[in-house]
Amino acid sequence: MVDEVSPVQVDLDFDQPGKTFGALRVPHSSNDSAYGQIIIPIVVIGNGNGPTLLFTGGVHGDESEGPIALMSFCREVDPNTLNGRVIVLPTLNLPAVHAATRICPLDGRDLNRVFPGDPRGSFTQVLAHYVVSSLFPLSDVVVDFHSGGHTLKYIPCVIIHKHRRDFTASLAAGRAFGSPMILISKDLETAGFLGNTSEAAGILTLTCELGGGMVSPGTVDLAKAGISNLLRHFGLTAGGPAMSERSGGPPARLVEIVDLDGYVVAPKQGLYEPFVDLGESLQKGAALGRVHHAGHTWDPPSTLFATRPGLVICRRPPAHVHPGDCVAIIGQVVE
Ligand code: CA
Repeated sequence: MVDEVSPVQVDLDFDQPGKTFGALRVPHSSNDSAYGQIIIPIVVIGNGNGPTLLFTGGVHGDESEGPIALMSFCREVDPNTLNGRVIVLPTLNLPAVHAATRICPLDGRDLNRVFPGDPRGSFTQVLAHYVVSSLFPLSDVVVDFHSGGHTLKYIPCVIIHKHRRDFTASLAAGRAFGSPMILISKDLETAGFLGNTSEAAGILTLTCELGGGMVSPGTVDLAKAGISNLLRHFGLTAGGPAMSERSGGPPARLVEIVDLDGYVVAPKQGLYEPFVDLGESLQKGAALGRVHHAGHTWDPPSTLFATRPGLVICRRPPAHVHPGDCVAIIGQVVE
């Protein structure tokens, strides 16, 4: 279906030098708008013959660090300082961004679960198909900016995949980004992800998880620095070493999620009381927190235990939990 023509219209010339603010027009017929379109911003910044980087933000509408940093970058960057091209969609899933939701409110789908999309499907599927069929072929590098959104908070990191043939190049790009952690994923849950689809197409890909919970100055600054560092790393801008190296800070920790046991989920509905915070190291069997059973004050809380030794790389900020909600992710430190 990737070969089928996309119904998305594009107000943009990708080969135009300089900086062009354009739009994708995705058809969306509704009760309020018979021939309606959803208009999604796209920015192309090009100069010279260097590589093309594709930056996407707002794939999940409740993850705002990437969109804020990418919108700032688009306004502020001087195209004359670049050798290459950057294609930026700071708010790719715009209806979800406006609704502050992970899932697209137009069709109830998760954009990061429907890739490679379907040109004859719903809004979200059509949008994914356009990215795959029209933007991936233009791109040498794809960077998808995520965070934990409303329900998770990560140690800010770049995710790379262990079994890819370009692992060494991905690791070097991940180190250049400048995040405090690089998460090595073994593709435990990957169906329909943007980043896995671009990797399968042979494109060097990074996915960032820039914190979550609430937007903070530190995570937005990290996203901005990461953009700048990647431009330098891939030769689009000149200059010395990337910011993380210049500042003399500690190198990024390499952490692996070994298996699905690393994801700790709530067993019951209630209020989760965490005992440990992000970045704490645990032994197997250590108490992580407990779920208080609201409405049943007399019932003892359910205590959750670490399923493996390791580092708390992610946890759930809201206390309210339902059975199956992920409350923590435990990773294994590689170096
Ligand atoms: Ca996400």
